[in-house]
Amino acid sequence: MKIRDILQQNQVTLSFEVFPPKKEEGLLATLEAAHKIAALHPNFVSVTYGAAGTAPRFTVEVASDLQNSTGTAVLPHFTCVASTKETVDEMLGALQKHHIENIMALRGDIPQDGSQQKEFLHASDLIRYIRSTEYGQAISIGGACYPEKHPESSSKEEDLRHLKDKIDAGCDFLTTQMFFSNETFYNFLYRVRDKGIDVPILAGIMPITSRKQLGRSVQLSGTNVPDSLKAIVDRFGDDPAALKQAGIIYASNQIIDLIANGVTHIHVYSMNKPDVAEGILRNISEMLRQR
Ligand code: FAD
Repeated sequence: MKIRDILQQNQVTLSFEVFPPKKEEGLLATLEAAHKIAALHPNFVSVTYGAAGTAPRFTVEVASDLQNSTGTAVLPHFTCVASTKETVDEMLGALQKHHIENIMALRGDIPQDGSQQKEFLHASDLIRYIRSTEYGQAISIGGACYPEKHPESSSKEEDLRHLKDKIDAGCDFLTTQMFFSNETFYNFLYRVRDKGIDVPILAGIMPITSRKQLGRSVQLSGTNVPDSLKAIVDRFGDDPAALKQAGIIYASNQIIDLIANGVTHIHVYSMNKPDVAEGILRNISEMLRQR
């Protein structure tokens, strides 16, 4: 099913995310986790794409297995930073072969090993190209957005200009980078709508379940960490079970506040952790009853 149709149904949607293994040996464990997450009946599951240089083929394998054996709508990610037209065509061919109707079209982080290609400089170039193909006209395309601006952008205004270009290229919906303060998202939403960007925006929520995970996520994304979350990690950082519980509650509270304020689409960075996805779902199940 196309994600743009799912998002149009005027109801609260909840989606989860899994990442593929780097090596074939990890495939079974990944599929097991992905199936458990799919069994929670999210509106869709996204499957990330390894950074340039890692084994990207497992994205399609995981997504097609999930869709074709559980009936769950899937959103495979794809990055163009190290891609040529041939590799993009190869990816689109593989998605089409597996009857996948969605793609998250990304640029990806600039690789340090010089493997960057120059054919698709920005996600908008990739989206425009996908839309120029017959298969690309029939599918739903998502893109990334950054409430606190992309780290490479010199200003929020510049970032928004490029975001508008991404939408004009044919992007159907956006998912945000993680944020830990909902005010950041509300402020972003106001600025985005003011720019005339009216596609659905999925609020990306990352449940923090370990001190290391917070450090890594913040280092990669530059996301601001509010004092309330810092205090949780300081207090429970050495007690994994307590931090996991607190992280699930923190993320659940963010989601409750978002839904209470009229936000309808929530994407949880569940990171192959069915117990975390389930914990969140349990905390908000009554609020999702009308799904
Ligand atoms: P773009 O939209 O191309 O933006 C990148 C930068 O270029 C921004 O600063 C933007 O303002 C600027 N820019 C855009 N267009 C122009 C233009 N025409 N001229 C000048 N500057 C321009 N990474 C992975 O490797 N795998 C994943 O699966 C993955 N999934 C993600 C999912 C989400 C929801 C998000 C938010 C990020 C994800 N990422 C993933 C990370 C992402 O690849 C990086 O953040 C990357 O640095 C930017 O990708 P993008 O698609 O946002 O790029």
